[in-house]
Order: sequence, then C-alpha cells, then structure tokens
Amino acid sequence: MLVMKFGGTSVAGADRIKALDSIIRDARKPASERTIVVVSAQSGVTDDLIRMSRMAARRDRGYVEVLERVRHRHEETVKLLRLGKDRNLADQLKADFSGLYDTLHGVFLVGELSDRTLDFVSAHGELLSARIIAAYLRSKGRSAGFLDAREVIRTDEQFGNARVNFTTTNRQIGQWLKKHREQVVVMTGFIASTARNETTTLGRGGSDYTAAIAGAATKAREIQIWTDVDGVLTADPRKVRKAFTVPTMSYREAMEMSHFGAKVIHPPTIQPALEKGIPLRIKNTFRPQSDGTFVSRKSNGADFLIKGISSIDDISLLTLEGSGMVGVAGISARLFSALSQSKVNVILITQGSSEHTITFAVRPGDAAQAKAAIEEAFRFEIRDHLIEQVKVEEGLSVIAVIGENMKNTPGVSARLFGALGKNGISVVATAQGSSELNISTVIRKQDLGKAMNALHQAFFLSEVKTLSVFLVGTGLIGKTLLKQVAEHRDHLKQARSLEIVIAGVANSRKMYFAPDGISLKRLSETLDRSGEPMDIRLFVDRMKSMNLPQTVFVDCTSNESVASVYGDLIASNISVVTPNKLANAGPYRQYRKLHELVRKHHAKFLYETNVGAGLPVINTLQNLLTSGDRIRSIEAVLSGTLSYIFNTFREGIPFSEVVKQAKELGYTEPDPRIDLSGTDVARKLLILARETGLPLESGDIQIKPLLPARLMKAKTVGAFLSALPDIDAEMESLRARAAKKGCVLRFIARLENGRASIQLTEVDTKHPFYNLSGSDNIISFRTDRYNQRPLVVKGPGAGAEVTAAGVFAEIISIGNYFGVE
Ligand code: ADP
Ligand code: ASP
Ligand code: MG
Repeated sequence: MLVMKFGGTSVAGADRIKALDSIIRDARKPASERTIVVVSAQSGVTDDLIRMSRMAARRDRGYVEVLERVRHRHEETVKLLRLGKDRNLADQLKADFSGLYDTLHGVFLVGELSDRTLDFVSAHGELLSARIIAAYLRSKGRSAGFLDAREVIRTDEQFGNARVNFTTTNRQIGQWLKKHREQVVVMTGFIASTARNETTTLGRGGSDYTAAIAGAATKAREIQIWTDVDGVLTADPRKVRKAFTVPTMSYREAMEMSHFGAKVIHPPTIQPALEKGIPLRIKNTFRPQSDGTFVSRKSNGADFLIKGISSIDDISLLTLEGSGMVGVAGISARLFSALSQSKVNVILITQGSSEHTITFAVRPGDAAQAKAAIEEAFRFEIRDHLIEQVKVEEGLSVIAVIGENMKNTPGVSARLFGALGKNGISVVATAQGSSELNISTVIRKQDLGKAMNALHQAFFLSEVKTLSVFLVGTGLIGKTLLKQVAEHRDHLKQARSLEIVIAGVANSRKMYFAPDGISLKRLSETLDRSGEPMDIRLFVDRMKSMNLPQTVFVDCTSNESVASVYGDLIASNISVVTPNKLANAGPYRQYRKLHELVRKHHAKFLYETNVGAGLPVINTLQNLLTSGDRIRSIEAVLSGTLSYIFNTFREGIPFSEVVKQAKELGYTEPDPRIDLSGTDVARKLLILARETGLPLESGDIQIKPLLPARLMKAKTVGAFLSALPDIDAEMESLRARAAKKGCVLRFIARLENGRASIQLTEVDTKHPFYNLSGSDNIISFRTDRYNQRPLVVKGPGAGAEVTAAGVFAEIISIGNYFGVE
C-alpha cells in the first residue's frame, strides 16, 4: 500500500489535476499497487468557506457572492477536465452546493455560527476536490474510487481540531478497503466525523494528518506528501530566500520543525508514521523529478551542524515572579496544571536557576486567558505579595534551530548567539530542550526576518556570506567604487565566499532600493527613472525597515547631513564605511559620542580613507596603539595637491606657474585655495590626533598660512590666479634659501607633545620626506618601538581609484567580521 497526499496548490485547477494522473502512475510500484490518494481542497477554498460562514453569521449577504465564486471555480475545473457529461459527478456536486446554500442560509437567518456548523461548511472543499479527482481518474480509465473520510475517521467532538479515535478509525479503514476493490482510492483530507456522524475537521492544514492516519491504518510502505516546494527546506522559503532542501531527516527532527512553524508538514502528522515506522517523503508536484525530503528514523547526513531553522512568528511571553517561589516545591506543577485546565498550549519554558522566575511562551490569543488562570491559581500568594502579578510581553517571535547533530557538538550556541549578536538582535529569552534537538530563542518580532537570514547564513552558508551595501553618493568615488564592485564581485564570491549585494543607492536627487540587489548596469538611469526623491532621513528609515542582516552603509559624499546620521545607524547596528571626513573632524563632543556608540554596538565604523586615501594610515596607527606602543610624534605630508606643487617647484619655474599646472592637470580643487589654505590637511591631522587620544578641536591646529590673506580673499578664482604671481618672488627666495642648505620645501603636518601644527618646512636629504614624487602622501610615525628609525607609510594619497579601493577593502573586511569563525 502507498499513501499519497496532494495539497491545495497541487489540486488547484484542471492543469494541476491532470498532472496528478502521471505522478500517481509513476509512484506506484508495481503499477497495480493499491494507493490511497488523500487530497486537500483547492488552494484558498477552505479560507473562502470559513470567510463566507463568518459573513453569513454577521448577516452580510455578500456570503452568497463568495459561495458563487467557489461554485464557479469548481464548475470551471469540471469543464476543463471534460467531465461535463459525468452525470454522477454533476449530481453529487449539485447536492453538495445545495447543502451549503441551505446551511449558510440558516446561519444567515439565526446570525450565529457554531464550531460544528463551521466544520460542516469547511469540509466541502475536500469533498468537492476529491469527487472531481476521482471522476477524472476514472475518465482516464483508471480503477479509482472515492472515499469520504467521514465514513472511516472517527474523532471526538472537539470541532475545528478534533482528536482521532485510532481503534475505531483503523478498523473502519480496513473494512472499507476490503469492501471496495479499486486500485486507487481518492480520499478527502482534513475531515472526519464523530460517533454521531457529525462532521469534524482535524485542524487547518490537517490533510497531511489524514494521510498519516491512512498510512498507519494500512501499514503503508511509504506516505508521500506532495506539495509546492522541493521538500522540507532549511527554513521557510518565504522568509529565507536561500533556503534549500534537506534531503533526509529523522521523525524527531521533522516533528520539531513542524511544531516550530514549518507549515510544510502539519505537526501531528509525524506521530502515526513514527509509531509504525512508515517513512515519509515530501515532494514537489511542480518538480516531481527532484528527490524531496525523506523522513525516517535516521537523521543521516552530517553536512551541517543543524537541519533547519523554524519560527513561530507571534507569541506572548508570560513571567511568573516572586520571592515566594524560591525553594517551594510544586510551583511549576501548579502553574502548568492551571494552564492545561484552561487549555492553553505552552510553546516554550525557561526558568532561571535562582527559581525566582518562570517564563513561558504562549500564542498571543491565549495570553489573557493564561494570565487569568495563573492569577486565579496563585491568588493567595499574590494577595500576600509572595508572587507578583503575571507579566505579559507582546510583539515577540520564537526562532528555533533544530537538528540531532547538535547533540554533543560544542559550539552550536556560540554560533547561534554570535550571529544574533553581530546583527544587533537582542535575545529576550532562550530555552534548550534536554534532548538537544532544538534551541529556541525569543526575539522581537521586528527582528525576525533578519534573524532567520542571519542564522541561515551562519549555519548553512558559512561558505558564502552576503553583505547588503547601501551607498550614498555617486560622484567620482562612488561611481568608481561601484565599478570596482561590479568587476570583482564574481571573484569575491568564488575566492572569498563573499557576496556583495547593493541593496540601496542614492545621489543628491534620487534614491532607489532593492533588497535582492540593484543591477549596476545603467544605474544612473534606474535612479533617474525609478528612484524616489532623496532624503537622507527617509533613506535611513528605509534601510532600517528592510532590516537585512550584515548591512553596511557607505557614504561617498562630503556632505555634513549624511555624516550626521552615522550615530543613528551605528545604534541600529548598521556598519558605516566612509571617506567623508566630516564626522571625525567635527566638534570633539560629537566625535566622542559617535565613537562611544561604536564601542557599545555590534557595528563597525571604518574610515581609513579619511587620511591618505587608500594608504594604510589609520589602521597602522590603531595597530601601533592597540599593541601597546606609544606615539612620540607624527610627521606627514597629507595633501596630494600640495605634495605635487612642492615636488614640482624648482629653479626656473615660478610658483604661480606650478599652481596653474597642477590645476590644469586636475590635481587641485576647482578653487586651488581650498588646497593651499591647508584646511583639508588640518582635518586629516585632527583625525590622526584624535586617533591617538588627544581631545583636540579644529581650532587647536596651528596652521602657518602659505598665502597672504589678501590673496585668499580675492573675489573669484580668476582674480586669485592673476594675483598669484605677486608671491612668486617670496616663494622663490624661500626655495633658494633652502636649496642653498641642500634642502627642499615640504608642507608638513606635525603632531608632537600634544601639539598639532602645519607649516612649510625645509627638509634635508636625510629626511624621509626629501624624496617625494608626484602627488604622494607620506606619513612617518615615531614611537617608543620605532624610535631610531620611524615607521613610514608612503604612496599615492589621492585619486578616485585608490580611494574607492580603500573603501572597497573596508567593506570586505566587514564581510570577514560577519563571517563564521
Ligand atoms: P500544501 O497546501 O501542499 O499542504 P502548505 O502551504 O500547507 O502546502 O505547505 C507548503 C508551504 O510551507 C511552502 O509553500 C512554504 O511556503 C511553507 N514552508 C514553511 N516553512 C517551510 C520549510 N521549512 N520547508 C518547506 N516549506 C516551508
Ligand atoms: N484544506 C485544509 C486547510 O486549508 C486542509 C489542508 O489543506 O491540509 O486547512
Ligand atoms: Mg499543508
């Protein structure tokens, strides 16, 4: 005997039903194998039946319309399957619908809907679908019968969620099968009846259970659950896009997965199969060739530490607390018996070892009743203040990692809590069954999607990690960064197992989001055409509400308002990478606040490109400091423009010519005074000083100006450039004086004894800055360890390519941080 069950989507409409015929034929071994085919209602029909019942009970005449739609849908199916001439079928369907009309009319008249009546109405989805499928198989010449499960499955009178009497049921199934000889028996899922022949149902999703009941009663060789996914997946595919099929699992694992919300198997289904040792196979009607999931006694397959991740999306947490609980026996017995008397199902329990509190989770709909029942059971203790009133917390979810492999394997909790922690998800409560089959954590509901994906990544995809990047600023650096990402993305995925997804982009006018990644081809067109107006606050809100795991915000602007959101992002555990200096060079109070937030949260703030573009300046400094070295002095040429100007300034070329040349080559800002004033260098020096722990403000940096105030104040760039030759003679004499001593001029930023200054300085041939070429930056650290000879970092310190590369490297380093060690 083989039992096959087809779910709602697998029987929804003529095309699907046609596909069943061949699936059933191929599954049977031998071809004549007797088979029970359990079917669900067409998808959505049970919902419609419930809805129309409730409408009728509210005296809403609209119920007739819903019923008409359901009728029309089934008539269509009959027509498309060319069963229009099947009189028998037509009569049965007519009788079903007239029964429905009469019942619903009655509900409408009295304005009342009992659970019993609701079960009667909702049973019709399965009746209709099973009748049509049986008729279709017969029309194809198969030996196919129809079994109304109400004839054989006997339950108690708990309408809506009835309990099965297995002794009677098994006997009746056996008898029915003896009496009828068809090879294929099409049986209604979900429905059953009481000893008084009243219709009951087995709970939503209960057709799976029907299949297990039929399988156990007939000692089937296998129970196949045919659905719309490739088996039991590592997580709910609607929540985790990268979920994949679990090839084998044990009954216990399947049971935990389904109890913890994996809708693919209705929870009670496993028990009858387990008792009789009948394997379950979960398969996809849309892809019958794929293997699906095989459930048996053995867990098999030790590829991963766990089998799957499940969630119960809505729970309430109740806490019983009080000094009167410590060391008193029987408290939990009383607690749970009070709950069971009021039929409240407990999802999870934790108790602190101090015995001072017991916390447990229930469905939100049960919370009020649970609270009342417990407060009644402990009314004397509460009156005497030995126990406090029951505390109820709402808006929570439970997420469970499941698998038999976890047993005796250290490191599972570390990985679990590590992944949650790194993504800034706080754990409200946690419980681990002693079976070590399941570790459950309670988190806030708003974190659920992120938590599922973060855990999935940590347990199953440690091979490939995904970073979601949000980029603001598509100027020269931003554009170059995107180009570099596009070029190296595939390589990163293969060589570093890191996938970079650009989930949001903005320029100063428009912003655009796509959680699965924005195509980088024609990005500016996409922004123009499909983007929303840019607003940095809205951008941040959207990022937060997307709540993706492993998120990085990249600021490639030099904008103050963008820099002002970093603190908010860090506090939301979103990492920030930026070449924008403004956050680090603003008022010290703000700087300190931001860096304190970074210390408190699980987010990185990386800004290596603030100083010396892609050169490793800040990292080097941080490494020196964290390894216990002490900085004695820092000397640096921190402006590529000024470096170029003084490297080029030599005898015979007037200073003003050099500046003009530099401007023409694009080495300066459009207004060269921005470079020549030294403000930019001052910002960089300030950042370095603060990095060493000095609480300096920008006013503390002493700049000896290169140019007289008169020139700096010229009204236009043109006016400035034409007045510039006025200082040629003075600059030339400075140069010549230095040259006479064998020295050259360098614009040097210096930090020593807590003082920061910037000025034009003569350096001789022994000085490391003597040989500087092009627009190179150079930074020399003199420390306790690097005392005799300083540690020098030197190289191109400006330019879009090297800056973008520096930003890119920091994004990648965040990927490593999130990676599973
Ligand atoms: P059927 O109508 O065939 O019984 P269901 O809708 O009841 O189908 O169950 C299948 C659905 O369960 C899938 O489409 C999927 O969205 C959902 N699901 C939730 N968790 C899981 C999981 N871990 N593995 C597979 N499917 C899951
Ligand atoms: N049709 C029923 C429901 O939707 C039973 C099932 O499909 O398993 O709940
Ligand atoms: Mg189902």
